[in-house]
Amino acid sequence: MAVPFVADWDLVQTLGEGAYGEVQLAVNRRTEEAVAVKIVDMKRAADCPENIKKEICINKMLNHENVVRFYGHRREGATQYLFLEYCSGGELFDRIEPDVGMPEAEARRFFQQLIAGVVYLHSIGITHRDIKPENLLLDERDNLKISDFGLATVFKHNGRERRLNKMCGTLPYVAPELLRRADFRAEPVDVWACGIVLTAMLAGELPWDQPSDNCQEYSDWKEKKTYLSPWKKIDSAPLALLHKILAESPAARITVADIGKDRWYSRPAKRGGERAGGDSPGGGKRGRSETGSETLSEEKASYSTSQPEPGTGAALWDGGPAAIDKLVQGISFSQPACAEHMLVNSQLLGTPGSSQSPWQRLVKRMTRFFTKLDADCSYRTLREVCEKMGYGWKKSCTNQVTVSTTDRRNNKLIFKVNLVEMESKILVDFRLSKGDGLEFKRHFLKIKAKLGDVVSAHKVWVPPS
Ligand code: ATP
Repeated sequence: MAVPFVADWDLVQTLGEGAYGEVQLAVNRRTEEAVAVKIVDMKRAADCPENIKKEICINKMLNHENVVRFYGHRREGATQYLFLEYCSGGELFDRIEPDVGMPEAEARRFFQQLIAGVVYLHSIGITHRDIKPENLLLDERDNLKISDFGLATVFKHNGRERRLNKMCGTLPYVAPELLRRADFRAEPVDVWACGIVLTAMLAGELPWDQPSDNCQEYSDWKEKKTYLSPWKKIDSAPLALLHKILAESPAARITVADIGKDRWYSRPAKRGGERAGGDSPGGGKRGRSETGSETLSEEKASYSTSQPEPGTGAALWDGGPAAIDKLVQGISFSQPACAEHMLVNSQLLGTPGSSQSPWQRLVKRMTRFFTKLDADCSYRTLREVCEKMGYGWKKSCTNQVTVSTTDRRNNKLIFKVNLVEMESKILVDFRLSKGDGLEFKRHFLKIKAKLGDVVSAHKVWVPPS
């Protein structure tokens, strides 16, 4: 049975969820175009209608290859639908191996793209205010796209800058002045968050809970104790840049323009390009753990979607933007009770005339594996392991459970696990629901290790033939 989603469109997968709703992948049955649909329930919070109006308004201003493209929005009753470029490469945090990071050249490439996006946003007077790896998505060519403008605001208009006073963001990524001063400049706060993202990419951990004097790790940084973690894992050239970015005084902090002149930042890419995975792992001072190395490398194989060429924009979409326009103008919209079912039943697998395999449509995610067991045994074994580890376990709907725990910072961590039958094998797919992306990845690796040889060596991502 087809899902009656704007005639030709099927909702095929939940891509993620946030405070006000979820993001679904919609695929056009005829043209195979893929669009991310952010579905916001405006009744969830009193300030939601106002916030979503602002998010839409800011999205309409954006046009840059390192920013998620916005196609339009539609309102149906109390639900807002935002139609966005589908980033099939998943989230940046998923490429960061806990406590290790990623190869330095790969981190630099992502960082350069992040800074290009931030330079653009600041040039049009927009500050993002919540830069973190969970809000940095990747397209099918591993190009970074800044996403989620739910907290963004205008700080400069007609050349006049206003200072900000609202405390927002995510504590480990916020700049110190935001915790101390009544008002502060917008740009240095985004620059600071980019520095924390770079640290996470190079060391696989966040340096502190928050940049305040009662936080030991932050005091250690200010005292230049770089023989401690995470700094000791980072080579001297990127560390020198981090000293300039994570400078306590916003006035002394490097600007985005000057980051472009930094020696490490502007180091030319090696011949043959520095594509993700092109650098030798374990380079510099960093090593790589057995399990993590496998997790990262097994899914390097690229796969294509029916996405436009990066930077070319929607106008050049194969088949034209007509289908997306129709989608935005909308007809009726109905959601399956549990969209994950779409993966299990025939919709995704048996789209008539489809030249794509189911693999090609799935968002790239490292946090999944096949098991050697059937569906029932996989479910039972996973449940046993999770319960032994003290996690909360709740069946959300058929084939999906919600697992809850607290992370090492004592923050809530909730993730969804879907058991999906694919080509007669059971795929166990983990997706973060609430909490820190890096912590989620840590817990995923622990569960995977505990499952031992129940985990199949079968690679999740196979290059399309
Ligand atoms: P938050 O509560 O964190 O602010 P939110 O409700 O604003 O979340 P988003 O952060 O925009 O929602 O999206 C939630 C998740 O959905 C993302 O972390 C990502 O995994 C997925 N997602 C969002 N947009 C896209 C997209 N364009 N392509 C692919 N996945 C996406």
